[in-house]
Amino acid sequence: MKYFISIDMEGITGLADYTFVDSSKHNYERARRIMTEEANVIIEGLLLKGAKDILVNDSHSKMNNLLVEDLHTEATLITGAVKPYSMVQSLDHTYEGAIFAGYHSRAGQPGVMSHSMTFGVRNMYINDVVIGELGFNAYVAGHFGVPVILVAGDDGACREAEALIPNITTVAVKESITRQAVKTLHPKKSQALLKEHVQKAVDNRHLVKPLTPPENPTLRIEFNNYGQAEWAALMPGTEIENGTTIVKFEAIDILEAYRAMLVQVELAMQTTFC
Ligand SMILES: [Zn+2]
Repeated sequence: MKYFISIDMEGITGLADYTFVDSSKHNYERARRIMTEEANVIIEGLLLKGAKDILVNDSHSKMNNLLVEDLHTEATLITGAVKPYSMVQSLDHTYEGAIFAGYHSRAGQPGVMSHSMTFGVRNMYINDVVIGELGFNAYVAGHFGVPVILVAGDDGACREAEALIPNITTVAVKESITRQAVKTLHPKKSQALLKEHVQKAVDNRHLVKPLTPPENPTLRIEFNNYGQAEWAALMPGTEIENGTTIVKFEAIDILEAYRAMLVQVELAMQTTFC
């Protein structure tokens, strides 16, 4: 009974804006404590359901946000970057289920701090399906036959999860008023909800199908400006679609598409604002 937890930060309880999720800002130390507590109650819930092996993958920014000394002793932690599979590093077929916590909605959608990987990205597509981080990560889990059984985050993230994955359990710990204002539960309240719902998610895990990715997927990333697309298209095998800021890449499988996406969004960040 192995479970995988990918935990991002923008969708953690009480966090309203970048003063919480940027490590140079004044609310960050508070935010990482709340994030660690949120991970711990999910771990506790899984242990109550007989989990024997829980891997937590820190999935925000520099990916070293969780306080290892305060994390539940029964979990193991992946911390730090760079990782070839980023938010789903080390997820494989041996897991019973995956849990995405602290998640946010994709770029261009309502939701607190909504984005897809970086602010250079307007949309990402696998074939004709528009996806954000949640969708891409769920496809990687699906590649290994692993269902995403629970998504926790703001209401936008929960809506996105429910649209993609039938029967998934979701926990909305806050409601976005705008992209940088939320109506939030108290952290203790959402911790109680998470502990309860993760157990429900384990009970219902056989009702959730893995999100199976297509074979030979076409990855298309729409960038916000043409300069970003030009940088991304330095990657061999890519091309810019005529008259757009969309960079196209034909992948062998979803794992190759994922790595291609990581390379392209990093390249696109080389543009200077002007
Ligand atoms: Zn994040």
